[in-house]
Amino acid sequence: MPQENMFNRTFHYARGHVLGGNLLTWNRGSNDVWDNWANLTEDQGWSWASIEKYYLRTSRLVAPADHHNTSGQVNPAVHGNGPVQVSLAGFPSELDARVINTSTQVGGRFRFNEDINAGDSVGFGFLQASIATDRRSSAATAYLKPVETRSNLDIIIHTQATRLIQTGYRKGTPEFKMVEISNGPKSPRFLVRAKFEVILATGVVGTPQLLQLSGIGPKKALHALGIHSIVDLADVGQRLADHPLLPNYFTVHSNATFDIVLRDQSVFGALLEQWNTTGTGLFVNSPSNTLGFLRLPPDSTIFENHTDPSSGPLSAHTEILFVQDGFAQFGDIPQPPTGNFLTLLTAVVSPASKGSIFIASADPFEKPLINPAIYSDKFDLLAMVQVMKDSQEFIQSPAWTGFVSATFGALSGVTTDEAMMNHARNFTVTVNHPVGTASMSPKNAKWGVVDSDLLKSRNVTLNP
Ligand SMILES: Cc1cc2nc3c(=O)[nH]c(=O)nc-3n(C[C@H](O)[C@H](O)[C@H](O)COP(=O)(O)OP(=O)(O)OC[C@H]3O[C@@H](n4cnc5c(N)ncnc54)[C@H](O)[C@@H]3O)c2cc1C
Repeated sequence: MPQENMFNRTFHYARGHVLGGNLLTWNRGSNDVWDNWANLTEDQGWSWASIEKYYLRTSRLVAPADHHNTSGQVNPAVHGNGPVQVSLAGFPSELDARVINTSTQVGGRFRFNEDINAGDSVGFGFLQASIATDRRSSAATAYLKPVETRSNLDIIIHTQATRLIQTGYRKGTPEFKMVEISNGPKSPRFLVRAKFEVILATGVVGTPQLLQLSGIGPKKALHALGIHSIVDLADVGQRLADHPLLPNYFTVHSNATFDIVLRDQSVFGALLEQWNTTGTGLFVNSPSNTLGFLRLPPDSTIFENHTDPSSGPLSAHTEILFVQDGFAQFGDIPQPPTGNFLTLLTAVVSPASKGSIFIASADPFEKPLINPAIYSDKFDLLAMVQVMKDSQEFIQSPAWTGFVSATFGALSGVTTDEAMMNHARNFTVTVNHPVGTASMSPKNAKWGVVDSDLLKSRNVTLNP
């Protein structure tokens, strides 16, 4: 939907139709994030102390594609022994040493963090990616592939769940143990009945959409669309939070950036062939080799008018991603036909803005209305301005001497806070990290969608 606080711009909201996969960045929440969930839900089962053993079962550290010595770049002691494989970048970029040297030399808010996934996520360091040395590793390759031939598992692709169907009550609470599925708007609908339970895991967009289509959501709004309300649950689709992302472009004194790869099909083809045949080269990497998470300065004037929305001191307010070296298109500005570039992505990772997702009609094949309400809370805009300044300060440190030439494009000449805010409103897109539309709350709370057991068994308002 048009974003009121971004001059009514709209931008793309990507949703994959694949089994497993995203931009490969592997980040667990800081210990604060988990402890915050435990406090919010009043269930210590979500605290880091309780969750750690399960996290360790999810993933394991493996060698990078170039088998370089990673000591001091990651802490193997905090990693587990699960099926998702995680590694550092296996093809060096000319930015890596500059980022790490800046953080070790400058310190302070730019301090080095040996392992971003060790509980304290604040600082700059090497990015960990869900890459099995040179291939994508994902929930699908780690969990689904090994069991795909089991006789008690069916994976139905190109099929959409169109409705959950109430099959009865348990202790006065409606039970939905039947799912209606279909291949498309004009295809027949089929019913699948569960013996034990239906686990709904259709993501931040699909989950509220399916609940609302099934009569679980805000009663009045569902009635207005002609949907019979079964459970009146106001928060279904509310509390949407997303990370605003802004690409910051610079020209550089280097002709070794990846710009040529995107401009010249033969260079691209040769690198693809190299990766396919030898598992080496640029294409073994995720889009970034290094990254940094920052807290706002403790004496920031932002806190004069805003409470801190982050989970705590181990959690960042903002992020800088060093997207290799080259012009990476995030948003509407295409790669220029000539020149060598550096792209710094700045993001707000403790957003205070809250949006919503609501179905546009009772038709399950019509796309829902997605409103991330970016910058609707001014904290996020002010935090973005701070991280834009931080990113420029970072690349002005000695480790970058002679590399960066100038700010590029619309960012050129943008120096005042007001101009930076307008720039952010004009060019921000999403990092694709939406969450929150089926929020957990304490048992018996009047808000939220599910309790800390991911069920909603009490305090529901029924509309038989
Ligand atoms: C382009 C992009 C890049 C990203 N990069 C990263 C990254 O590098 N690192 C990171 O940690 N996170 C990244 N993310 C975010 C991350 O992928 C998500 O947070 C995560 O996948 C959410 O998991 P989920 O299980 O909640 O939902 P999803 O992964 O969205 O899974 C939901 C599934 O349900 C299916 N579905 C939805 N509705 C229906 C329906 N009605 N019937 C049947 N099936 C349905 C969907 O097709 C999907 O397969 C990225 C996201 C995007 C879009």
